[in-house]
Amino acid sequence: MAERARLSGVAAGLAERAAAMLARLAEAPLAPGLYLIATPIGHLGDITLRALAALSTADVLYCEDTRHSRILLAHYAIERSTRAYHEHNAERERPRILAELAAGRSVAVIADAGTPVIADPGYKLVRAAIAAGHRVSSLPGPSALLAALATAGLATDTFLFAGFLPPRRAARQARLRELAGIAATLILFEAPSRLAACLDDIDAVFGEREAAVARELTKLHEEVRRGSPALLAAWARETPPKGEMVIILGPPVRRPVTDETIAAGLSPLLAHMRLSEAVRTVAEGLGVPRARAYQLALALQRDWERGRGPPGDGPPSPEQG
Ligand code: SAM
Repeated sequence: MAERARLSGVAAGLAERAAAMLARLAEAPLAPGLYLIATPIGHLGDITLRALAALSTADVLYCEDTRHSRILLAHYAIERSTRAYHEHNAERERPRILAELAAGRSVAVIADAGTPVIADPGYKLVRAAIAAGHRVSSLPGPSALLAALATAGLATDTFLFAGFLPPRRAARQARLRELAGIAATLILFEAPSRLAACLDDIDAVFGEREAAVARELTKLHEEVRRGSPALLAAWARETPPKGEMVIILGPPVRRPVTDETIAAGLSPLLAHMRLSEAVRTVAEGLGVPRARAYQLALALQRDWERGRGPPGDGPPSPEQG
């Protein structure tokens, strides 16, 4: 009971402060320009006060899907007209938006969910607005890719967002091969119907990697599964997950290269190549310093000269060095 009273006191204090800030924001007219406003990716509470004010007060509000955005607007009692800007009408609508901006109006743009322009329409509009000298401003907030990255537990110092992979297997595997060597955590969007097939391809192309699937983030059935691509593919096949999802893949696993591995690479080459050539080939192939490969090559030659070479393999002649 005491806890309930404490929480309702906290709620009243928050409501008062948030309402005061919201009132200040909504009373200040938006300067002319293009406003890219992030909206929730699930939980309707994930909206900023600046976003609410701008959604209410912008002269014009463009939505990716006006019917979809009505749910958010109705939830916050924002009653206003909206227009559609999506991939099918973008070419036609863009000049109209630029004309609004040229007339000194504030134009807000929202996607169905998350940050507009990120795997959503708007990029060409932003470029056109910049080229025409208009102010372009971002009202940051939710984005599925950052929410997924933050919860995955994989390295965040370097990451690459690669969007949606091609739906067809051959093209998807080709794209995965391009991505495989990149020393960064990879973030991919995927449809639930293709998740298992996509993870199978990731397993085939990438092999062992740390991975995660973040599903229905901020919603009732939020789930983050972690494991190897093979393990996640098996899970996705057995209990096909529903909803929206993001795949996160850790950077390639770099295992330390042992002296034995380098020597095994050098041995067959030294029998028919100049020493410097064998050293360069192995050093580049294994990603080790040339000096290290060189020292091991010399040691191998010494062993061979002492008759400790593999049967049938004579030592390389001195001029090979
Ligand atoms: N612009 C959006 C953003 O910044 O989040 C992304 C739009 S993209 C068209 C939609 C994709 O985002 C979905 O197919 C899914 O991969 C991912 N996504 C959106 N909401 C999500 C959620 N709540 N949980 C997990 N993934 C989500």
